[in-house]
Amino acid sequence: MELNKDELRKRLTPLQYQITQESGTERPFSGKYNKFNKKGTYICVVCHQELFSSETKFDSGCGWPSFNDVLEQGKISLHKDASLGLVRTEVRCSKCQAHLGHVFGDGPLPTKKRYCINSASIEFIEPETIASSQDQNTL
Ligand SMILES: [Zn+2]
Repeated sequence: MELNKDELRKRLTPLQYQITQESGTERPFSGKYNKFNKKGTYICVVCHQELFSSETKFDSGCGWPSFNDVLEQGKISLHKDASLGLVRTEVRCSKCQAHLGHVFGDGPLPTKKRYCINSASIEFIEPETIASSQDQNTL
């Protein structure tokens, strides 16, 4: 997927641009989705591919939104990241290569994965409103 960097600079906030395009990291506990528990789907802020479901989001206490699993394998790509003197696994959007965060192996069951994702890389969308399920799903 071709991305026009000038267009992206205009469309994204400076923080979103820095994180997704330059593999930045937002300050812990600063992101808008760190303490956020609505039901819905998280999409890539750059290309809008669906990435994570609120079903797998959990509070890991690490300061960034954490997910136990991806919506579907294939939505993300993993890359070895040896910056900062640590070897970590970087998570990127498989469609546009936006940097999302990192994945660690200390999450809860069943996957034991902890996808530690920057709020600035993702956007929350409400589930499509279905008339019959509206009442049951209100929290
Ligand atoms: Zn993307």
